Amino acid sequence: MKIYDVTAPIFNGMPVYKNKPEKQPTIETNTNGHVTESRISMDVHTGTHVDAPLHMINDGETIETIDIEQLVRPVKVFDLTKVDEKVSLKDIEELDIEENDFILFKTKNSWDTEFNFEFIYVAEDAAAHLADKKISGVGIDALGIERAQEGHPTHRSLMGSGVIIMEGLQLKDIEAGQYFMVAAPLKIENTDASPARVLLFDELIG
Ligand SMILES: [Zn+2]
Repeated sequence: MKIYDVTAPIFNGMPVYKNKPEKQPTIETNTNGHVTESRISMDVHTGTHVDAPLHMINDGETIETIDIEQLVRPVKVFDLTKVDEKVSLKDIEELDIEENDFILFKTKNSWDTEFNFEFIYVAEDAAAHLADKKISGVGIDALGIERAQEGHPTHRSLMGSGVIIMEGLQLKDIEAGQYFMVAAPLKIENTDASPARVLLFDELIG
């Protein structure tokens, strides 16, 4: 069985959304004698992470309420590396996407080594299609699942339909196909997101 780690490393100077300095994590390491302890301060949307509905919906559910069984399960990876600018309905309507699927979109974003202001995102019509299909979750290899859409219709239509959103995946080495996923956000209470370690296994388990 092969394990693929599709998690972005966290470090000061890493790619952060729109290169905003306040989104950089700070990691302080202190050593006293033989004891070393570090403290980290970071945005909950740092690197590879899972969004909770609270991120875009006032009074929405918080990250620790997402059932772990929704994040530890089979997933389908789709290769959309030919797509430019945004993933639209026409790019996904022929794909084998079924009710309750958790899907990951591999795009050109996976080759970015810095924050790309023109990152490929999921357009409103594609998000509405995924919500109609009643999928369980969708992940993308950008720090956002949308940009340049007034009112955040992609987030809102997915979250409004209970679709889990995962951002910041690193899918460069992952071929299209089915995998078993372990996505484990930190169990931080009452927040709108959490960084997660996300692993894909090439054999389906369970
Ligand atoms: Zn986020």
